[in-house]
Amino acid sequence: MVESMEQLIEQAADLVSTSEQILVFTGAGVSTESGLPDFRGLDGIWSKHDPKDFTIDRFLSDSQDRKLICNVLAGAGLTMTQAQPNPGHYAIAELEKMGKLHGVVTQNVDGLHQKAGVSENMVFQLHGDLSHTRCLSCNTRYPMEEIVEWMKEDIDEPECGQCKGMLKPDAVLFGEQLPFDVLTESERRSRSCDLCIVLGSTLSVYPAAHIPRYAQQGGAKLIIINMGPTEMDSMADIRIEAKTGEATPKIIARAKEKM
Ligand code: ZN
Repeated sequence: MVESMEQLIEQAADLVSTSEQILVFTGAGVSTESGLPDFRGLDGIWSKHDPKDFTIDRFLSDSQDRKLICNVLAGAGLTMTQAQPNPGHYAIAELEKMGKLHGVVTQNVDGLHQKAGVSENMVFQLHGDLSHTRCLSCNTRYPMEEIVEWMKEDIDEPECGQCKGMLKPDAVLFGEQLPFDVLTESERRSRSCDLCIVLGSTLSVYPAAHIPRYAQQGGAKLIIINMGPTEMDSMADIRIEAKTGEATPKIIARAKEKM
């Protein structure tokens, strides 16, 4: 029997209303509805640049490469800081207000979950955060807007104001390890949630895509909302083919009515 969209929303709302520790896992699909290109595909960037130039090795070893990477990523970061959350982001923030959010683990680097109102300490950005630049020596973070202002002033290579260390856009580059503490805490939270909601991810990029699997191994139910197939469709308790910004607010609103 094929269930209608209304039935699926109703079933998802039932799960949300009866769950207490909900882990939300988000991918590019959540942010494309805010007008941002799929950063994994990096449509906007990889049509103009070779991904092989964007490795951590090139960044650390070659000053010309470093400048190119900084310039391109600063541009992308600036676009992101100007983007606004969409109803999908706000629906997730609503889960925190309801006291049900166990964490948001995201593959996105745009900071839109925090902008929508999710507490900073509840967001785990597996691939970093392109709204900031970080000093590789002392870890001081600078907003990307500030770095872009420095670059406009013809500063050849921005350096840390605290220790003169090398600054790197805070997104994970190719060949670079995912931030260990973020990955560890994401895994811990996924294993201890009772419901995992995947939004806008095809679940094909690892190790990020392990997160929903850990949740299921820990006994959690799984809801997947995505346009197009994902690698865990057959394992989902509820699979909704829809835009996250449309389906998620409906589910949350309906779940609140049931509480
Ligand atoms: Zn520093």
